[in-house]
Amino acid sequence: MMMLTKKMIEIRSLLQTVGQSDSLTLPSIVVIGSQSSGKSSVLEAIVGHEFLPKGSNMVTRRPIELTLVNTPEAHAEYGEFPALGLGKITDFTQIQRTLTDLNLAVPAKECVTDDPIQLRIYSPNVPDLSLIDLPGYIQVTGRDQPPELKQKIAELCEKYIRPPNVILAISAADVDLANSTALRASRKVDPRGERTIGVITKMDLIDPERGASLLSDKKYALRLGYVGVVCRVPSTSSGPKLFSRGNNNITTAIAKNENAYFSAHAEFGPDSHLNVGTKNLRKTLMHVLEQTMAGSLKTTSEAIQRELAEATYEYKVQYNERPISAESYLAESLDGFKHSFRGFSEQFGRQQVRELLKHELDQQVLNLLAQRYWNRPFDDLTVPLPETDPLSALPKADPEGENAIWQIKLDSSSAALTKLGVGRIATSVVANALQAHIDRLISTSRFSAHPFARQAITEASTTILKDLSYDISDELEICIKPYKYRIEVEEHEWAKRRENVSTTLREELKVAEAAAKKLEEQMGGRKKVRDVMGFIDRVREGKVVLEGDGIGGAGGFSSALLEKGREAVFLRDRVDILKMRLLAVKSKQCATRKNKYHCPEVFLDAVADKLTTTADLFLDAELLSKFYYIFPRELDARLGRSLSQTEVERFAREDPKIRRHLDVVRRKELLEHVLKEMQSLRQLEQREKRYGGRK
Ligand code: GDP
Repeated sequence: MMMLTKKMIEIRSLLQTVGQSDSLTLPSIVVIGSQSSGKSSVLEAIVGHEFLPKGSNMVTRRPIELTLVNTPEAHAEYGEFPALGLGKITDFTQIQRTLTDLNLAVPAKECVTDDPIQLRIYSPNVPDLSLIDLPGYIQVTGRDQPPELKQKIAELCEKYIRPPNVILAISAADVDLANSTALRASRKVDPRGERTIGVITKMDLIDPERGASLLSDKKYALRLGYVGVVCRVPSTSSGPKLFSRGNNNITTAIAKNENAYFSAHAEFGPDSHLNVGTKNLRKTLMHVLEQTMAGSLKTTSEAIQRELAEATYEYKVQYNERPISAESYLAESLDGFKHSFRGFSEQFGRQQVRELLKHELDQQVLNLLAQRYWNRPFDDLTVPLPETDPLSALPKADPEGENAIWQIKLDSSSAALTKLGVGRIATSVVANALQAHIDRLISTSRFSAHPFARQAITEASTTILKDLSYDISDELEICIKPYKYRIEVEEHEWAKRRENVSTTLREELKVAEAAAKKLEEQMGGRKKVRDVMGFIDRVREGKVVLEGDGIGGAGGFSSALLEKGREAVFLRDRVDILKMRLLAVKSKQCATRKNKYHCPEVFLDAVADKLTTTADLFLDAELLSKFYYIFPRELDARLGRSLSQTEVERFAREDPKIRRHLDVVRRKELLEHVLKEMQSLRQLEQREKRYGGRK
């Protein structure tokens, strides 16, 4: 028979995880009683340990769903709070402390709440039972207690003592039973006394004769009867009460005490047929719970079937019966991401690296040219224009190389380019591009809705790229070292570079013209721009003397306008120079490498090209292929193997759509599982019925 109760209690716990539906549960024993009626003492006597919160002002504020699990083979006794994940607690004083904390967590204003605390106790000394301890009824509200407390407790108890639960109504023997709040409350919902067990505590405090008459009460006759107990823990001689007894099993001490009392009084002898003692109370509870649970099996399993049908329907209609688990969702998402990464890696190779690098180096070349050749130091309004032609800083036709200045300029420019730190620049340009592509892949993947995964992937790529870049940029720098000393340009190369640089200059020209146009719109039209630029030019030519530094406006123009005007002058000059250099590059003079000193644009482009060719080859082999190899493996490591079940679960549930899908699947699986358990239980029950009698 015991097996049955255990199974049913297991099913009850399973059902608790399914959901809150009232019909989706199996009955339990609900313990009610007034404060100080001895309710805690009775529960502790059943468990064999002191574990309930105590204290004069301590009101149990939340129901405690207490599941006792008999573990005949085990020695250890321990408790578990399944919702808290604290693990096994073998120290019962710690259980007591935790319960106190959980109770105190309810704000005093709320007084009590119906959010139950779940506690499971495993021990070879407890029976298989499921009990719900409710806050004790109070007679008068204490000074620092809210006035509605009494009412709230009554309402909470009322909710729990509904059928089919069994009511364990605790009353103290030294209080008139007619005044017992517990019995009154239970009478309201169970007028015929069919599912109430009366417990009379503190039997030692009254005459045995009166005690005996209480137990055979006829005024509120109970089918399940009354049980008399003496649950006070006798003080031991081994030490003062201060000494924590929480971990000592008190069952024997109580039983001894009770036996001594009841056997000393003939009123309670075997002939009386009265039910006395904690041991008998346990037996009664087990028997009644088993009967009640078994009686509810049919209706409960019908309720489960209904719920299951609903969940199955939802699964079919909403989710097309697509199976899902947190793991499968993660694995699929990861596969999808790796697939798109593979697609990207097939398209992003040496050619793409080359374009990136060339573009970067083109910019560097343009900067160098602007600094060393095309410069016109007139950005500062206060600096007057030099007497000489501003364009004199550009190379002149000088085929014989008479003017050493151009030779020095080109050599130093070329050296500046090769010593720019190309290793570092090129590596970081490619690494940044890779990172940007990964970011794009993430945002178009399923992971976009998962902050945790986004971060994990981003971290994976940044870490790998950072680690690789460190060595690669040094090694690349060594590869380009020869160019720092000598650069040979063949005639055919020259022709190609000349063509290329024309394109670059033309593009740059377009950029400058577009910027000038935009500026013109911002400044309010061409005429306005001309006026402002005219004024700035006059200042630069020394024809107008600025007062102060021009801050706060000058010449009738605001300082903001002057600022823009200066930008416009810069762009105009830039456009002029670019046009001129474009002509120069296209001119006959630049048709051969022999004139390289006069065509710095072509020569520097050739240098940039050589650097690019070395760098793209190296970066393709080192950075790209290594990254493409390591990254997917790192993803597996970070999002696959190393995640705990909880993390995978948390990940999948971040997406509300997936969360709902998972919930339906889980609910369905759980209900199916419970239903199967119930079927095997009913078989067990029938077998017991058939063979039970023979034993
Ligand atoms: P609760 O407030 O209903 O939980 O009551 P407690 O279990 O805390 O008991 C209230 C008081 O009654 C405590 O001081 C207990 O020691 C005492 N008490 C409990 N059961 C008995 C009993 O059977 N006999 C005697 N004499 N005292 C008891």
